[in-house]
Amino acid sequence: MFIGGEWTSASDGATREIINPYDRSVVSTVDEGGRADAQAAVAAARKAFDAGDWPTWTARRRSGLLHRMAELLQRDKADIARLETLDTGKTLTESGIDVDDVTEVFRYYANLAEADAGRIVDAGDPRVRSRVVYEPVGVCALIAPWNYPLLQVSWKVAPALAAGNTMVIKPSEITPLTTIRMVELLQEAGVPAGVVNLVLGPGGTAGAALSEDPGVDLVSFTGGLETGRTIMRSAADTVKKIALELGGKNPNIVFADADFEAAVDYALTAVFFHAGQVCSAGTRLIVEDSLYDRLIAELVERADRIRLGNGLDEHTESGPLVSAEHRAKVESYVEIGLQEGARLVAGGRRPDEPELRDGFFYRPTVFVDCDRDMRVVQEETFGPILTVERFTDEESAVELGNHTDYGLAGAVWTRDAGRAERVARRLRHGTVWINDFGPYLPQAEWGGYKRSGVGRELGYEGLAEYRQAKHIYENTAPEPQRWFAR
Ligand code: NAD
Repeated sequence: MFIGGEWTSASDGATREIINPYDRSVVSTVDEGGRADAQAAVAAARKAFDAGDWPTWTARRRSGLLHRMAELLQRDKADIARLETLDTGKTLTESGIDVDDVTEVFRYYANLAEADAGRIVDAGDPRVRSRVVYEPVGVCALIAPWNYPLLQVSWKVAPALAAGNTMVIKPSEITPLTTIRMVELLQEAGVPAGVVNLVLGPGGTAGAALSEDPGVDLVSFTGGLETGRTIMRSAADTVKKIALELGGKNPNIVFADADFEAAVDYALTAVFFHAGQVCSAGTRLIVEDSLYDRLIAELVERADRIRLGNGLDEHTESGPLVSAEHRAKVESYVEIGLQEGARLVAGGRRPDEPELRDGFFYRPTVFVDCDRDMRVVQEETFGPILTVERFTDEESAVELGNHTDYGLAGAVWTRDAGRAERVARRLRHGTVWINDFGPYLPQAEWGGYKRSGVGRELGYEGLAEYRQAKHIYENTAPEPQRWFAR
């Protein structure tokens, strides 16, 4: 852990083994912090914000720090990508893409840090100078999940630093390795002591201590819906600012006039990329009646050919699930789907290959003839499970796409530009793709409608989350008002 500019161990000496999901080997042993460590980290971040040199840094200087960080990420890209693969099981190609994306996010916020210092307001009185300036919120607790460990935390760290905050970072207890590495690089880039603090440990203790601590001004959390609810409740006691990036159950709507090859291909990547452990995974395929049988036949044929394996092997197309516990959850959803009467046409089992026996693998799974109210259709399985529903017209496609408590992302496939635009506008999701699935840009806001979250990451709003506006009103020619006791 990294507290007040020093690398330290857990105060009670606890440690945790980090397991490679490919073969259950121990990759590393790390410290396992608890409440006391989280509180010490908050105190260090508080001190750096209230009494340190960091608040005097100009925006240009903070921008320079973020640019240096981007360079260091690229310098160590191969190393970081390998660590991410060992920790999460994702393929090395995916991990490399993550490092590149994270680099772009640091560059984007490096540029934005200097771009906007506030604005002049017309008070309607020539004697008054009125302006709005942006200031950092203060001490931020940044809590991240295990599916994109480096990427998700960077979406928070880069704008939080750009805005001038201090922070305590808590990665998922099962995937902390690239976050530790990131903090080492931030130190090398020149971040002052106490500005960035790192606490490792479980959510129920180290994490909860952060969202409860009165010394924390803002909690930014990415993770599951239930944890999001808990954090929102505990943040209420001290009225913290919160940003929540939660789950998704994302519709992928295919009209019969879509480019068939592209739609099938993307339908596969949308759901099976990173073994479905993606908040914006296209787990709900919603297909126009007349295309339904043809599309499923092609999809199943290709899903059955997906090569599972070691993420370090360049021939691997998909790695394992992250843990035994998570695989058990995915398997329970397959059981639920079967009991609900969904028809299983691919997967639904662990792979047969002996070399995959020790890993937490699960075959890409497809359920067809699904009903909108089935649990397997409505709940986030966070695994390689695709459900397929059918629709007859545009109205019912939109209705199905919006029939979810979540609202993170969705896609529409059609060659009819007018229809694409109509459907995109009516889908109640934070990101909508037309004839594509998955891309995001550092410049464009990312976040959820409905129960997928509160607030936005990336883009300008991703920076605004970490700033607060102050109105400074200056009377340049004060005269007595003589309101009282005239
Ligand atoms: P999780 O909610 O179990 O844990 C996320 C983080 O919160 C971990 O660091 C965990 O230790 C911590 N935590 C757990 N309980 C806590 C508590 N009481 N107080 C404070 N912190 C606590 O989620 P996960 O299983 O790690 O990640 C998967 C989930 O993340 C999925 O639901 C997925 O959809 C979501 N996710 C969302 C996005 C997005 O952009 N919306 C991106 C990635 C993942």
